[in-house]
Amino acid sequence: MSMANLSYQSTRGGEKGLTASQAILKGLAEDGGLYMPSGLPKLEIPLGELAGMSYQETAYQVMRLFLTDYTEEELKYCIRSAYDSKFDTEEIAPLREADGAYYLELFHGSTIAFKDMALSILPYLMTTAAKKNHVENEIVILTATSGDTGKAAMAGFADVPGTRIIVFYPKGGVSRIQELQMVTQKGDNTAVVAIHGNFDDAQTGVKKIFGDQEFAKKLAEKEFQLSSANSINIGRLVPQVVYYVYAYARLVKNGTIREGDEINITVPTGNFGNILAAYFAKQMGLPVKLLLCASNDNKVLYDFFRTGIYDKKREFVLTSSPSMDILVSSNLERLIYLSTGCDAGANRALMEELARTGAYQVTDEMRARMADFWGGYATEAENQAEIKRLSDKTGYIIDTHTGVASCVYHKYVAETGDITPTVIASTASPYKFSHSVMAAVAGDQGDRDEFAIIDELCKASGVAIPRAVEEIRNAPIRHKRECDVDTMEDAVAEILGL
Ligand SMILES: *Cc1c(COP(=O)(O)O)cnc(C)c1O
Repeated sequence: MSMANLSYQSTRGGEKGLTASQAILKGLAEDGGLYMPSGLPKLEIPLGELAGMSYQETAYQVMRLFLTDYTEEELKYCIRSAYDSKFDTEEIAPLREADGAYYLELFHGSTIAFKDMALSILPYLMTTAAKKNHVENEIVILTATSGDTGKAAMAGFADVPGTRIIVFYPKGGVSRIQELQMVTQKGDNTAVVAIHGNFDDAQTGVKKIFGDQEFAKKLAEKEFQLSSANSINIGRLVPQVVYYVYAYARLVKNGTIREGDEINITVPTGNFGNILAAYFAKQMGLPVKLLLCASNDNKVLYDFFRTGIYDKKREFVLTSSPSMDILVSSNLERLIYLSTGCDAGANRALMEELARTGAYQVTDEMRARMADFWGGYATEAENQAEIKRLSDKTGYIIDTHTGVASCVYHKYVAETGDITPTVIASTASPYKFSHSVMAAVAGDQGDRDEFAIIDELCKASGVAIPRAVEEIRNAPIRHKRECDVDTMEDAVAEILGL
């Protein structure tokens, strides 16, 4: 794939030939599809050379291959602005060994979850894209969140000139800390709405607003245009490829593996964005054997990889890993599209079937093309037990999402005997889910005050309380809006004063 002619197209066939900056600005294609590059580029720098690079240098080497209409200067400006002292470590994404696995800590950014890895750069990619494409309208970011995206997106976009951001989250479906982080968000251009429904309702509602051409006209009259910060935006996906390449290079650098050796990667999965980025890294030539897709009790992906049938018709379970409580994993559409051999018509038919019947089945040929994925899941009890086991054995305390991944990894090793060195994506700080984490480590916490639990977690883990948590201890609540699932569009109109 030559860089010069890389372009972006919809997975449903309605649009093609977009530049990267156009795809980032639009977020979601008008036909409801997701933008995909016309081919996956190959890493151009030898892995041994990457081992000597900083996170920022690695980011440039990876992202320039996808964002081909950004100049070197523009891209380096975006990277420099994103990966700075907002992160509490110069490594940006440190690797931590515990009990034989390598935990890639993706939670050192401003909202202490992995969403910061992409959402700290997206506002720069987007405002640069707006300039490049002579956009005069104000850009309105609409985002549905299962808890982490919303806060990370607001942290990134707060008071960025030329942008507004509106976040919808499921009332009662996020952790106390997640909710506090969102409702205390500062910035004149931010708005937060709690919806009476679950995350899938929020996501479906946002997609509906995007597809409403009448509403788009009304917005345009007031000089607004919508974009998305959800993981369907290609500007989210590309920055996530970086840390898998970086993790591999670190393992080479510290002598755990030799250049060319294979690794496995385990990812706690919800919307399928993070693990898809790992798959992109593999397609680009990173020596990855298997991608372990870890689910919680909402194990629609586990069932899919076992049977080839995607079936969302099931009870939605609220778990202690709420950012993975999802039954429609949007980014899976990109894998489906790739596994049809990039046949947009075939992909569209499956997605229409999902919308109509709640399920679809893929062909054996498609399944064979997904053989790089291994699905596993952890129940609530197994997750708790894993967090406690690792803490007792090593003193390392992981959050409830990473717990799911860690549990699935150890199940995989027990089942297969495969001891390939494994990177586990550690997607949140345990402080973000302190109630559930301390319940696992020290027993039921009842309705104890969240900040008393946090102080105890600090003692138990020996890890300093992150700035992101201290900030909300006494912060005033700024956002109190709520709405029903079918009035989300009205809420947007009201917030924007249409
Ligand atoms: C969003 C999130 C996930 C799921 O990531 P996807 O890219 O949606 O699969 C897992 N863990 C945490 C902590 C998250 O915030």
